Amino acid sequence: MTEMSESPLKQSLTTLKGVGEKMVEKLNKLGLFNVQDLLFHLPRNYQDKTVLTNISQLYPGTEALIEGEILSQHMTQSRNSSLLVKVIDGSGQTLTCRFFHFHFRQAQQFKRGSRLRAYGEINGGPTGLEMVHPTYQLFSEDNIPPLETTLTPSYPLTDGIGQTTLLKLIKQAISLLKHYPLPEAISEDILIPLNLPGINQALLTLHEPQASDGLASIKSFRHPAQQRLIFEELLTSQLSLQLMREKQRQFSAPIFPASPQAEQLIQQLPFSLTQAQQRVMAEIRQDISQPCPMQRLVQGDVGSGKTIIAALAAVQAAEAGFQVAIMAPTEILSEQHFIQFSEWLQPLNLNVAWLNGRMKVAEKRQALEGMVSGEAQIIIGTHALFQDSVQFQNLGLVVIDEQHRFGVHQRLALHSKGKVESESALEQHPHQLIMTATPIPRTLAMTAYGDLDLSIIDELPPGRQPIQTAVLSNEKRFDVMENLVKQCEQGVQAYWVCPLIEASDLLIAQAAEVTAQQFTEQWPNLRIGLIHGRLKGAEKGQIMKAFKAHELDLLVATTVIEVGVNVPNASLMIIENAERLGLAQLHQLRGRVGRGSKQSHCVLLYQSPMSETSKKRLSIMRASTDGFKIAEEDLKIRGPGEILGTRQTGGMLFRIADLQRDAEWIPKVKQVAEALAQSDDDVIEALQDRWIGDKRDYQQA
Ligand code: ADP
Ligand code: MG
Repeated sequence: MTEMSESPLKQSLTTLKGVGEKMVEKLNKLGLFNVQDLLFHLPRNYQDKTVLTNISQLYPGTEALIEGEILSQHMTQSRNSSLLVKVIDGSGQTLTCRFFHFHFRQAQQFKRGSRLRAYGEINGGPTGLEMVHPTYQLFSEDNIPPLETTLTPSYPLTDGIGQTTLLKLIKQAISLLKHYPLPEAISEDILIPLNLPGINQALLTLHEPQASDGLASIKSFRHPAQQRLIFEELLTSQLSLQLMREKQRQFSAPIFPASPQAEQLIQQLPFSLTQAQQRVMAEIRQDISQPCPMQRLVQGDVGSGKTIIAALAAVQAAEAGFQVAIMAPTEILSEQHFIQFSEWLQPLNLNVAWLNGRMKVAEKRQALEGMVSGEAQIIIGTHALFQDSVQFQNLGLVVIDEQHRFGVHQRLALHSKGKVESESALEQHPHQLIMTATPIPRTLAMTAYGDLDLSIIDELPPGRQPIQTAVLSNEKRFDVMENLVKQCEQGVQAYWVCPLIEASDLLIAQAAEVTAQQFTEQWPNLRIGLIHGRLKGAEKGQIMKAFKAHELDLLVATTVIEVGVNVPNASLMIIENAERLGLAQLHQLRGRVGRGSKQSHCVLLYQSPMSETSKKRLSIMRASTDGFKIAEEDLKIRGPGEILGTRQTGGMLFRIADLQRDAEWIPKVKQVAEALAQSDDDVIEALQDRWIGDKRDYQQA
């Protein structure tokens, strides 16, 4: 192919039918910038609508396709009215479809006697088995549509783009792929012995799996097409890390000399640093006193005291006359950091600024100006800090907190930010301090962070009592609520977490709302806060503040509180549907308590029946509070079949690979990466182009 006729796969999304500027913006949010990106936007899940299940054979927590006759439909009269449609099938059992949001016209479609085919997750509800917001089809007895013959992919979505829209776009991309196949980046010498198919075949299989492809192997991620892409993605990441490390070594960085102000801060703390904190601090100081960019990862379990480490490094940079950017994965956490850093650093006369999503236009402009002029010395924010419009005067240090939430690729993109043309011939880069509590085993950590030096805080502050964890059936839910209220009357503060997985933001918010209402109705004196992803930033901030100030006894929340939230007085945590969460996420959530000297408790509520794996997970949680131990156990028990359907938080944000599930690939990937790195820059570029979102920023970094 000549350069004149670039492949249509490399062209802009607007070349597709139905894509305008508005849509492009939304697609960009998913990391999709051209047609090829759509091909690498892989299904997160598949729905199996190829077989019907009898209602009598359903059980909660699974997904199924059912078909039956509509017995009745009615609307509930509560404030948020629901539409309930009751169906009976050949097994003689009934199931209710529940819709929270519906148009009047939609409600009228569900006529008594007509046939309904519905696909969704089965829940145990007040009226027996339920499906909440199933996808469905209506038809009459004499006009029964055939069942699907292939799996239906479902893709990761973003606000404003639904499954159907995305599916249409991906279909267009696929038909282009059939005419303009991608060049093969990995040679047959490597692929054939590993039994891996070509790239084009792999992509076609995953977007349009045929029944003959074996649903079971796809669902468990063992299909060769998936293995091929997993291998390629891991290889890309490994190559990028190798390259990045080599390149960074060639840059210069500012020198931060020993800092009297940092010493002063240490003197003023109400605690003294642990041995582990002191050791890690010494490692960081060694790095930042050198004219070469630090690239250090600090790993420390939840509650081990990483924030103060970041603050001390920040002070040292600021005292040397450089700016510091501190990036947190959520706005809630960035606000907490702002409050904490202000408390520590203002007495030292350092200017701490907070860039956030709720600023008015004028306020934001002012903040941005403060960053350009250098007046703002320590700037805290979310990933918004790294947008193109944000400029620093002399950025000397970048701190990334809870980095596992950002993913390897985003981290790489940051290397390029804050480049400074210095007087010497060498380009200057800021130092980087990356912090994570991700309990991933050390061998895997070395792979995921192959470009970083590692420091470990392997000690908790003194006086912490291990959190006591109980595992209880959901049947005890009311007892647990009652007990919680009693505790709160004694001055305890508690979290109640409602994690609904794979549901929309809206449904998750509703689950939390319902729980908060139940508390309010039963115990009107309890001071309750409700926090979920659909609240505005300012509202979230107010609620967190009130909880921290003990103006609230109970915080009912979704997993938005998962990372970094620090309210040392909170000592009781209830997690509902704990059986659905992975160990890494449970550990993160539980880490919100046990942060003070009080004995903390955690109750994990589960819904029966539980899979063997879920049972094992919860018993590990009961037995241990050590993040690294939990991670090792996790690796042992995670059967690949469990992965699909549970959200992969706690893993790196790869598109398809999962460092734990796919650990067996790692030695091979390293070997191939080393061989390739010696040879061919074009190959690496082609691979990065496929796999790395936001890549355009740092390919030249
Ligand atoms: P994480 O590592 O999870 O980010 P934080 O930095 O939020 O942990 O620290 C958890 C709590 O422990 C905070 O309230 C912090 O002030 C406190 N803390 C940190 N270091 C020490 C220490 N050496 N001694 C006592 N408390 C500490
Ligand atoms: Mg933290």
